[in-house]
Amino acid sequence: MALLRIRKYPDPALKQTAQAVTNIDGEISTLLDSMAQTMYAAPGVGLAATQVGDSRRLVVLDTDHQNPGKHLLKLINPQIVAAEGSIVWEEGCLSVIDFSAEVRRASKVLVRAWTLDQNELEMEATDLQAIAFQHELDHLDGKLFIDRLSRIKRDLYRRKLAKLMKEGKAIGQSPSHVRI
Ligand SMILES: [Zn+2]
Repeated sequence: MALLRIRKYPDPALKQTAQAVTNIDGEISTLLDSMAQTMYAAPGVGLAATQVGDSRRLVVLDTDHQNPGKHLLKLINPQIVAAEGSIVWEEGCLSVIDFSAEVRRASKVLVRAWTLDQNELEMEATDLQAIAFQHELDHLDGKLFIDRLSRIKRDLYRRKLAKLMKEGKAIGQSPSHVRI
């Protein structure tokens, strides 16, 4: 296992639409382990393969801060099959440095995915876990949470980032406590 390099906006890899996994094998298992290790080290509560430059539909997720590792999910080809309700959360992203913003999402989702032992799993998620699922699935479709903001807010961030990079003042992390 090795820590993977997390791609940061505006890396073009983050715009790739990930492809479905057709064969669940040892390589996928190793990659998911490395992704989980990278997520905990960051630290973050979710990581999509897109964020480490791999274009396959893989996600790791652990929104239980109290017991890291206990509720770790390693999901293959995850899909949201139903969504309801509405919630606004201050989101941060491991791939978007020096920025966080409020995003509106569904408050409850039904997720279907494959697991490493080749079983199909269906689970309901609410609140932070529901937000994290939607955020990660966006990554697999080449989308970032800043793409869900108004153009004005996105442009402000772009300009701020350019300035920080120029001045060498970028922190390199999202200021939000919940980085997905
Ligand atoms: Zn993210």
